Amino acid sequence: MIRARVRVVLAGAGHAHLLVLKHAGALRAARVEPILVAPPTFHYSGLATAVLSGALPPGRAMLDVCALASRCGVPYLPAEVVAVDRGARRLHLSDGQDLAYDAVSFNIGSVTGAGSDLPGEGEGEVWPVKPLSGLAGLRARLDASLADRVSPSILVAGGGPTGFEVAAALAGRVERAGLSPRVQILRRSTPDWAPRRALARLSAALQRRGILQTSGEAAVRRPGEVLLSDGRTLPFDLLVPATGLRAPDVIADLGLPLSGDGRLAVAPTLQSPEDPRVFAVGDCAVITGSPRPAAGVFGVRAAPILARNLAALGAGRRLTTYAPQSRWLSILDLGDGTGLALRGRLWSLGRGALMLKRRLDLGFVDGLRAASGEVLED
Ligand SMILES: Cc1cc2nc3c(=O)[nH]c(=O)nc-3n(C[C@H](O)[C@H](O)[C@H](O)COP(=O)(O)OP(=O)(O)OC[C@H]3O[C@@H](n4cnc5c(N)ncnc54)[C@H](O)[C@@H]3O)c2cc1C
Repeated sequence: MIRARVRVVLAGAGHAHLLVLKHAGALRAARVEPILVAPPTFHYSGLATAVLSGALPPGRAMLDVCALASRCGVPYLPAEVVAVDRGARRLHLSDGQDLAYDAVSFNIGSVTGAGSDLPGEGEGEVWPVKPLSGLAGLRARLDASLADRVSPSILVAGGGPTGFEVAAALAGRVERAGLSPRVQILRRSTPDWAPRRALARLSAALQRRGILQTSGEAAVRRPGEVLLSDGRTLPFDLLVPATGLRAPDVIADLGLPLSGDGRLAVAPTLQSPEDPRVFAVGDCAVITGSPRPAAGVFGVRAAPILARNLAALGAGRRLTTYAPQSRWLSILDLGDGTGLALRGRLWSLGRGALMLKRRLDLGFVDGLRAASGEVLED
């Protein structure tokens, strides 16, 4: 008996799906027809702060999704999935189309978490760190001030690694213009996302560059200032919410079990246990029992397992399981030619850390660019 073809919609061109595209031949051989639905440009997070600080031109962190899909022979729709009818197995797309699926895999990343929509007035000067495409607007806004020789007062709300990295990148941009940064990080509590000595060294290095830290809880945003819950106010010209990451709304709307932080709960096969036709990887998902922070590396490592499991659907084989590593390397780009590398309790702050980060990140994105045949014009 000839098996029917299985249509698998890849929703989102995140790290894992970009790599799954390279397995398109194996998928087709297993009678799987992949279709990619995603916005046309992939913004690579590993280089986002390098672009923000002006260390790299914007094109270095972007990838042409259509070119890669086309090189891999995968049909591509430049749209977003806005809703899912799991009963009818149909996806509703942002361009008004409906798309039927036999299985769907989500790799749609994350959006800025609670607090980015801080109630208040004064639109126009609030620049959340996600989506990453929005950082181009922030950089243009900052550059406009710097062109007038003004170093704006920047308030970054969020004391996680992203808040620190973005604050340092923005300061780096101001320093490149020959001005002194006026950057403040508003954090709820004392950071604990790195060893204490690493955080002390980092804070001292940032302070020397004019990047200060304040503890407090933002309550209301008013034009040009944030009112804290203890009654203090913090003035700003630019407010940058970096208040954690959460899954996009379409994930909650699936009606499937979520993790405590709102990501799709999946089994080690990367499927929802309540609907095995729904797969998810990267920031929008969490493997029950193996929670991990938002980082591109988990999507990268899950990619071969996802490709194998999607092929197994078509070939009628057993699915395999993915166990995310318990230690991983993360490196913050501090915008001044240095970086902070972290792996478990190990850390290193300095130029070597940033050199390693650039080598890894440029290697990843340039590898995909070569596969897509895209030629970069700087
Ligand atoms: C400023 C900043 C710097 C960061 N630096 C790093 C770093 O150096 N290293 C690191 O590991 N992590 C970093 N992160 C975290 C990182 O952004 C995420 O962990 C990582 O990008 C997640 O990868 P992903 O594959 O899940 O999704 P993403 O890489 O975010 O890709 C998701 C894709 O899905 C698309 N999409 C979204 N919604 C839909 C939809 N409804 N339908 C179809 N497509 C959709 C998006 O356009 C996007 O292309 C950083 C985050 C920020 C904010």
